[in-house]
Parts: sequence; structure tokens; C-alpha cells
Amino acid sequence: MIKVYNFSAGPAMLPGDVLEKIKKEFLNWKKIGLSITEISHRSDIFTKNTIIIEQDLRDLLNVPKDYHVLFCHGGARGQFSAVPMNLLTDFPKPDYINSGFWSYNAILEAQKYCKPNIINVQKLSSSKKKYVENMNNWKLSSFYTYVHYCPNETLEGLEIFEEPQIKNKVFVGDFSSTLFSRKIDIKKYGIIYACAQKNIGPAGITIVIVNKNLLNNKKKSIPSIFNYSLLAQTKSMFNTPTTFSWYAAGLVLKWMKKKGGISKLEELNKKKAKILYQYIDTTDFYKNSIKHSHRSRMNVIFHLKIKKLTDLFIKEAQKIGLWGLKGHSVVGGLRASIYNAMPLKGVETLIRFMRIFEKKFG
Ligand code: PMP
Repeated sequence: MIKVYNFSAGPAMLPGDVLEKIKKEFLNWKKIGLSITEISHRSDIFTKNTIIIEQDLRDLLNVPKDYHVLFCHGGARGQFSAVPMNLLTDFPKPDYINSGFWSYNAILEAQKYCKPNIINVQKLSSSKKKYVENMNNWKLSSFYTYVHYCPNETLEGLEIFEEPQIKNKVFVGDFSSTLFSRKIDIKKYGIIYACAQKNIGPAGITIVIVNKNLLNNKKKSIPSIFNYSLLAQTKSMFNTPTTFSWYAAGLVLKWMKKKGGISKLEELNKKKAKILYQYIDTTDFYKNSIKHSHRSRMNVIFHLKIKKLTDLFIKEAQKIGLWGLKGHSVVGGLRASIYNAMPLKGVETLIRFMRIFEKKFG
């Protein structure tokens, strides 16, 4: 069997150790003779595990005490609705930053509830490279409101490393494809959310980290499963949670701790991204069109100079075990998602393949 590296943007590669552990204990979790998939979420054994999972998450991200950690349904798109539904009473006209596909989709959803102030921040440099304007230049509205943005645009491979410093604004970040990949200062945000299927675990569970001060909303019209106050009160168990995904996320968090925590993972992520971009920059055969300052460490987007070779590239790569390199249909081209679970060796193997492909067809 060839070694397969999965470069898919999500559901993405999971750490091999985690998959092995799931396999080993799948039919007999904690030696109780039952599978994790058949245990009540209200049982002591499950709830105890969720407390450990929350603590591991808090340890890894250094989440302050005045923040709730919620384990929700509905993926990141669910949060595109949950955020305005929970915050709008206090912040009637929010600022929405448009930096690409996902932040724009969050805007489309918010428009169902309000008229957001839309701020376009994606720019093109004189050398035709995409970048995002510095936060200081974002034309935020002058009154107190929340600001929604997406620190890593998964489709375009555009990442905002700068963290919010602006006073009198509540920042809400869709961290779906970058949470746990680098250190962040939770205190700078009112809400951080992320779907699981990139750096956290199998699809299903959605993480929301929310400042307790934002939970004053008594509005009765918020659907219960998206109501942050209710979810906090019920310890994310208002209804049946996605138990398997929650459990598996817990194993991934333990794996991250074992790896040395976020700073170690960040170091490795920098290295993986650096060698891949460096290689792309050494040749005309491959092209990345993002300015260095905003190149995503998680989603490396590239195109072939000879576009018609794209399908062949994907096919040949798959033959030797390099999966999931097709770019999103909206932007086309190629995308190597190199989340935490992707080892350095996987990136090196991809580069080796790219070299060979270039020699053959360049
Ligand atoms: N935001 C970002 C940044 C994403 O990458 C994705 C998924 N690729 C989403 C939102 C949507 O996530 P979901 O499918 O879990 O709703």
C-alpha cells in the first residue's frame, strides 16, 4: 500500500495516531463494552470527557476565564447566521469585512438579518499580487459595533496575520481554517468560531469561543440550538450533540498537546509553508498570486503556467498518493492544504512530485 498524503481543504487529513486510537477503541470505549457512537451524551462518562476536552482546548489556546467555549452544530455556515442572531440587538449595524469567498458568504447570510456595512479590503499590488489592506485602513463605521472578518480565506489562500487592536469594536473571527495553526490572543476578540473539519477533527462539531459579556441577549426569536446563552447554560447539550465528532476532536487536542502545543505546531507550519512557497517561487511553471505578507500557511494555492495540464497534474499526483490537490471550483487551479496533521514529509513529497512533473512537461 502506498503512503497517502491528503491535501484536501476539509474534511482534511487527521493525525495517524488519532485514527489508530479511534480504531482501537471504537467498539469498546474506555473498556465499558460500548462504542463511543452509542453512548448517551448525558452519561457521566461522556460528560466527564467533555470537561477534559474543554480544558485541553482552553490550555492550548490560553482561553481566559471570561470566555465560554461552546460546542455547536451547523458548521461555520451555521455561525454565519448565529453571530448576527445573537449580537444584533446590541449592535444593529455591524461592519463586515470582505476579503474573499468565505467572508463574502458570511455577508450574504448576515444580510438576511440586517444591513451590514460592507468593507472591501482585498487589493492588488503593482505586481498583480493579492493582499489585504492593513486593519488600520479598514473603513469601519464610527459607532460601537461588531466587526466580522475571516482571518484565513481557504479558497484564495489569503491569510490575515495581523490581530485587531481597534478600541470600541467587538471583533468576530471565522477562524475555520486557521484555528490552532498559530498563536492568537483570544482577548482581542469577542467571538471566535471554527468548523472542525480542518485542524480540529471530523466534520460535525463547531467550536465557538465567546466573551461572556456578549451573552446578554434575551431575544426569544433566536433558534435554541444557535442561542449562545442557552448553549452556555446547558454546557452545549441543549439537544443531542455530535458525540463522535466531539470525542474525536478531543483526541486531536490531546495530540496537539503531545506535539508541544501551538507554538511548536506554528513553527512546523511556518516551515512547511516556507518550503512549498519557496519552491513555487523558484519556477515559472507554477504560480502563486498572493503577496508574501498574506500567503496562507494552511492553504497554498497555485496554478500551472500551462493551465490545460491541471487535470493531468491532479491525476498523476493521486497515482503516487498525493490526494485532494484540486482547487475549489470557484477559483480553479490547485490547492495544497497543509493543516497541522500534514507532516513535513508530506510537503517534501509534494515538492518532489512537482519537480518531476515540471521536468516532464515544463
Ligand atoms: N468559513 C471558512 C473559512 C471555511 O473554510 C469554510 C469551509 N471550507 C466555511 C466557512 C464553511 O464551513 P462549513 O462547511 O462547516 O459550514
